[in-house]
Parts: sequence; structure tokens; C-alpha cells
Amino acid sequence: MISLLGVPLDANSSHLFGPADGPAAIREALYSDSHNDASEASVTVRTELDDLGDVAVTNERGSAADADAITAAIDAELTAGRQTITIGGDHSITFPILRAFKQHHRDLTVVHIDAHPDMYDDLDGNPLSHASPFARALEAECMTTLIQLGIRTATPHQREQAERWGVTMLSPRQLDRFDPAALSGPIYLSVDLDGLDPSAAPGVSHHEPGGMTVREVLDVIDSLPGPIVGADVVELNPTRDLVDMTAMVAAKLVKEIAGAMLTP
Ligand code: MN
Ligand code: MN
Repeated sequence: MISLLGVPLDANSSHLFGPADGPAAIREALYSDSHNDASEASVTVRTELDDLGDVAVTNERGSAADADAITAAIDAELTAGRQTITIGGDHSITFPILRAFKQHHRDLTVVHIDAHPDMYDDLDGNPLSHASPFARALEAECMTTLIQLGIRTATPHQREQAERWGVTMLSPRQLDRFDPAALSGPIYLSVDLDGLDPSAAPGVSHHEPGGMTVREVLDVIDSLPGPIVGADVVELNPTRDLVDMTAMVAAKLVKEIAGAMLTP
């Protein structure tokens, strides 16, 4: 079984709020009878997902207690020998998640899909900002390798951060340089929905045109050599969505990630 957890937290967002309502919207799409239970590889998925509901958070900006609650919730599932899929929530939830993975997986490779590198030292004085989770995770040595795909907003500061930590950062134009065969060890996949093009995923706070297609993201998931030990899908902002299409994209990604996890 795969543990599915929601984190209704958006206090660490910038520009707009809304992703706190993401978990409910993704669940509604995931369990909608508009689609069946099979992944594209015909793996029965939904019955293998144990939906544990939402992690209890206060949703206060910069809350260390909320971060600790997320780490503890993930740690409990990993201790039970499970894989986890976490639905956000803004991207600030990924550092506390990776902190839990560090206790269970050495040599973790993180594949991160996003328009943004999320490696700011801090944003507006908040080191737990949704623009900083990978800076924190790199400092805490949560992973051996970080590969970022879909990046198209890197500032000089974030380029420096990538160089300092040896992060591979690929823009949508450079996706053909992504070599999944070169990945080793357990893999964690973090998908910020704004990594996709806004025409496919408009329900995000930060529209950044020129992003990845749904199929490109699905192909990345399919290409991962595995084992995929954990994943998150974050930054759905239902207040920005159109006919729930981004929620359905998120649900589709959850389904396909789960299918890949269940296929050793
Ligand atoms: Mn982003
Ligand atoms: Mn992000």
C-alpha cells in the first residue's frame, strides 16, 4: 500500500493564497467516477492508495511546528515500510517531507519538476517559504542528487545556488539532456504544477508560460528507473482553476506516480 497524505498549507506562499484547498480538490478529481482505476500501464491504483487524510497543520507563516508535524507524519509512514504520495499545499511542504526521508533513505535522488528552482536562501525573511524548500533540503543534506526539470525563472542568485550544490537544472528546452538511465538509488519525485504550461495547468498561483506538457511530465514519471520511494504534487490553487482541469491533471499525476511505484 501507498500512503496518501494531504497537507492543507499555503501560509508560506507568495503572491496568492489558495493551495490550502488543493488536497480536497485533488481528492475529488482522483476519486471522481469520470475515470477508472487503471494507470496507463494498466496497474490498478486507487485500491492500493491508503488515504490517511490531511496532516493537522495550523497554516501559520513560517511555522516550525507545522514543518515538524509534516516530518512526523511522513516519518511514521516510512517507518511502517510504506511509500508516500503527499498532495499540497504549497511547495514549502517538501522540505519537511525530505527531512523525514533522510532518516530512512541514503543516497536519495530527487527529481523536481517546477517553473522555479525554489532555492532562494529565503523569501521576504521566511526561510520556510515555498520558494526555498530545496535550499533548506540541500543544506540539510536530504539528498545526494537534485535534478530540476522545467525551470524557466532562475535568477542569478538561484544559478549560484545550483552551482554551489551541484544541482542539475534543465529548462523545458533542455529536457532531452535528462538521462534517467544515469539515475541511481531510491528516487523521490516532487511535482510543482506550475512546471507544466499554464495552458494545461492554469490552477496555480504563478503562471509561467512556456512550460512542460502533461505528456512530457508523464514520460518523466515513466522513465524513472525506480524504486520511487516517495512523491509530492503541490501548488494546486483551486481558486485559479478552470473547470477543475488542473485538479484532474494533479489526480492523473498521482495515479501515474502510484502506478510507477507499484511496478518495481
Ligand atoms: Mn513553481
Ligand atoms: Mn515550487
